[in-house]
Amino acid sequence: MLRLRRDVPLFPEGKPKALTLSYDDGVTQDERLIALMKKYGIRGTFNLNPGVMGHKDWLVQRGGEVRHYKFPKEKIADIYAGQEIAVHTMTHPDLVRVGDGMLAYEIVQCRRELEEIIKAPVTGMAYPMGTFNDKVEHVARSCGITYSRTTKQTFTFDLPEDFLTWHPTCHHTEAEMFGLLEEFLKPMDMKGRFLAPKLYYLWGHAYEFDALGQWGDIELFLEKASGKEDIWYATNGEICAYLNAVKQLVYSAAGEYIYNPACLDVWLLIDGEVRRLESGRTIEIQYHS
Ligand SMILES: [Zn+2]
Repeated sequence: MLRLRRDVPLFPEGKPKALTLSYDDGVTQDERLIALMKKYGIRGTFNLNPGVMGHKDWLVQRGGEVRHYKFPKEKIADIYAGQEIAVHTMTHPDLVRVGDGMLAYEIVQCRRELEEIIKAPVTGMAYPMGTFNDKVEHVARSCGITYSRTTKQTFTFDLPEDFLTWHPTCHHTEAEMFGLLEEFLKPMDMKGRFLAPKLYYLWGHAYEFDALGQWGDIELFLEKASGKEDIWYATNGEICAYLNAVKQLVYSAAGEYIYNPACLDVWLLIDGEVRRLESGRTIEIQYHS
């Protein structure tokens, strides 16, 4: 019999939270950040520009000069092993201002060059400087991009409504970074009526840790966030693929049967119980009268 039920999507193994990082520009400071991420078991995505790989320049940040060297192409596979790499376009233009042909080329050629490096499809992206509009989104989707990060901070743990405009929780220079983490780490009431999965999505550029003397802060953040049973530590692409699998679930008319057509197992909280929906299988929900 049909009745009101509210199934809550959970992350793999029934975890209610996920944490991910997103760092841009492929700068040599990424190596130190990745070492810290490895130390604490944290994962994330690095958005790279093949057109400027190997370039060496300096940036002025808060009155001081900071090294803005990019890794050469031949080092990319090693440096970023175990993390995800994603499109940040070939040359880092403001995509809203480039011509149509160039727009497509900046995205698809970047994909192609990154795929040659890692010998696997690359479908993630971050908009250079965070600029985009409907056309940019449309072209990105046409180029095979499945998600793209903006620079619009939400200061929440909400899941993205549209993966082509994936807004992060906050940038690592925000004063709220640690306060939000404290809130994120609070245990969740799995029986709570309004339970919703939470995602802490931190973004930035690793050279800013040099410029602002913030290496201690990011290490403290990673340490505090690490080793929690209820958090899934994942790359942006893994989170996108998983949530897309959740969206693909097929429900019977009255909701007693749920078919998982995806190639990933999916977890839901159903009637207060964590249920695993195996890939390619149908589960039956027993209705207690
Ligand atoms: Zn950038």
